[in-house]
Amino acid sequence: MHKQPLILVATPSLVVQSLLAELLRDCGDFVSLPSAERLLAWMDEPVPVPDLLILADDMPGLDLAAFLMRWRSHPATRSGQLVLMGEQSVAAEIEALNQGACQYLTVPLVPELVLARVLAVLRQQNELRLLRGLSHVDPLTGLANRRHFDEFMTSEWRWAQRHDSGIGVVMIDIDFFKKYNDRFGHQAGDECLCRVAHTLASGVNRSHDLVARYGGEEFAVIVPSLQADGVRVVAERLLQAVDALAIEHPDGQHGCLSISLGSSWCSPRNDSSHRSLIHEADQALYMAKHLGRHRHCRFGELMLDVT
Ligand code: GH3
Ligand code: MG
Ligand code: MG
Repeated sequence: MHKQPLILVATPSLVVQSLLAELLRDCGDFVSLPSAERLLAWMDEPVPVPDLLILADDMPGLDLAAFLMRWRSHPATRSGQLVLMGEQSVAAEIEALNQGACQYLTVPLVPELVLARVLAVLRQQNELRLLRGLSHVDPLTGLANRRHFDEFMTSEWRWAQRHDSGIGVVMIDIDFFKKYNDRFGHQAGDECLCRVAHTLASGVNRSHDLVARYGGEEFAVIVPSLQADGVRVVAERLLQAVDALAIEHPDGQHGCLSISLGSSWCSPRNDSSHRSLIHEADQALYMAKHLGRHRHCRFGELMLDVT
């Protein structure tokens, strides 16, 4: 189902608000933020991701330049379009475009012109979203790619920091995959990678876990979870799900294709970085390989907990 664009309108003018609400009724979901306080409070938790913000350039109490910098740097808002709105003035329009707005609407608004401009911006935004979607997908497996993984990790990390929550990572590597390619050829290797990828994606049933192809025959899962045990459960389920595929691999362990997994979990502190979390999960994966493959190791238990 095609998602409706989310349009935010931030203006203190009740007249402009209701005119835009009426005019843009069929263009998407409309959220009104009538004061600087409401706009800034929304920026603290910008969910769902907006497609367009129409902002009055004279919003009382708003430091416009600081706000625009925040909008452009936040992962949830930086891909949204920005339209500024203000009194008719060539200088104001030039300033708005220089500050990163893609359009300028002059007040008093001319309804037909506003509608045409907003529709043009939404069409452009739709194209950008499609391209952005493609640039975040691994073409072979259809999973999230490394770029998507990095962006998702950054935003989940921030969320966990703000909400005093936790986050886990599972790094996964197919065992003896080179030998699989050597025996069956690269095309069969590609098909096998896809089967494993789909199995991993179906193995995380919560909508906020992200499975990505990390590179080559390696995958990574981000598990936003309040407790470390949630990550262990996911990792063990994935190990079993790939076992259940029973893909023939005469040079693998027990004649079947298997995976090794390493995981780590933490409750992010302000001074910590997600790079260390990934590094820990990598070390745990290394240990799983070292201990004989086809198993899950958790960082921190000095990999004694071997399933
Ligand atoms: P280990 O159990 O230690 O992980 O052994 P391995 O053979 O899986 O690991 P190694 O790093 O030696 O080899 C990884 C192999 O994965 C080699 C490479 O050809 C294969 N590979 C990586 N990406 C792809 C891909 O997109 N398609 C196919 N068919 N093979 C790939
Ligand atoms: Mg590897
Ligand atoms: Mg491997």
